[in-house]
Amino acid sequence: MLKRTFYLSALLFLAAPAAHADWVRRVTDGIMGTRITVELWADDETKADPAIDAVLEEMRHIDDSMSTYKPTSEVSLVNAKAADGPMRISKELFDLLTTAEEYSVITDGAFDITYASVGYLYDFRKHVRPNDAQIGNHVLLDPKSRTVRFSQKGVRIDLGGIAKGYSVDRGIEVLKARGFTRAYVSAGGDSRIIGDRFGKPWMVGIRDPRKGEGEVITRIPLVDAAISTSGDYERFFEEGGVRYHHIIDPHTGHSASKVRSATIIGPYATRTDGLSKTAFVLGPEKAMEIYNRIDDIDAIIVKLDGTVIYSKGIEPARGVPAK
Ligand code: ADP
Ligand code: MG
Repeated sequence: MLKRTFYLSALLFLAAPAAHADWVRRVTDGIMGTRITVELWADDETKADPAIDAVLEEMRHIDDSMSTYKPTSEVSLVNAKAADGPMRISKELFDLLTTAEEYSVITDGAFDITYASVGYLYDFRKHVRPNDAQIGNHVLLDPKSRTVRFSQKGVRIDLGGIAKGYSVDRGIEVLKARGFTRAYVSAGGDSRIIGDRFGKPWMVGIRDPRKGEGEVITRIPLVDAAISTSGDYERFFEEGGVRYHHIIDPHTGHSASKVRSATIIGPYATRTDGLSKTAFVLGPEKAMEIYNRIDDIDAIIVKLDGTVIYSKGIEPARGVPAK
């Protein structure tokens, strides 16, 4: 009798419902002033929500330490004090500033986190734009002491052109550390994907810069890749027929409007985010030359006349004969 009960309970245990596996998706507004989307495949659905919470927590931390809108952020403290002398900063910020410097070099200075030094008076709500000014490389990094120093007063850094991509990469790391192998994380125009959708790629749409949110110029199949789009439609105002928007030519302090949008595909969202601004500043031809020189990325540019050009790596896939 006793034996029978034992078998029965053992059977019941085996028959207990298996963890329910499913795709789980959550959309959250308000971190870094943008929309965050996390979608993942969970072998056990109950593990999805805590994992997504952890991704958002990580993004809030990045927002708290890197936003220039927060006076207590580490970046705001750097902006307030780094002109007075070397300032020791967190490893995380130091590493990101080092990466930003690298992008500045490979884009011939088009990517420049000190653009705000001259563009500091830009305020899209108040329609203010700065006077002409010149800037150089004013952010001095010392890896030995892990310090940053500004060359002069008035220098300001702003990580708005790289922080969202970075936060997406961090979000992906959080999910990987918890064992997830199929996931999509995006913050505004910056996304990264790990794994596929069970034999199928993820399809990521590239928006038509002059049309509504749902309208796409093309859909790109992606597996294990990051993709960032910068567009002149994101934040702008028009005055006297000229569109002033949020990407700045660091050499002039004026908004850079040489393309309608630029999309970069690459291994990391930090990288694709950092490189998507270049086309606005340098124009489609010069930017495409640079993009084609960088091995691990591809690019899709919508020119001012609406025509679309592709980097060498994806041209054949679009049905254009390879040269
Ligand atoms: P989003 O903010 O939607 O991610 P982008 O990826 O296109 O849009 O980045 C635009 C942001 O990049 C601007 O809001 C500003 O913070 C920053 N930025 C503007 N011009 C430059 C530049 N020349 N170099 C580096 N960052 C820039
Ligand atoms: Mg971005």
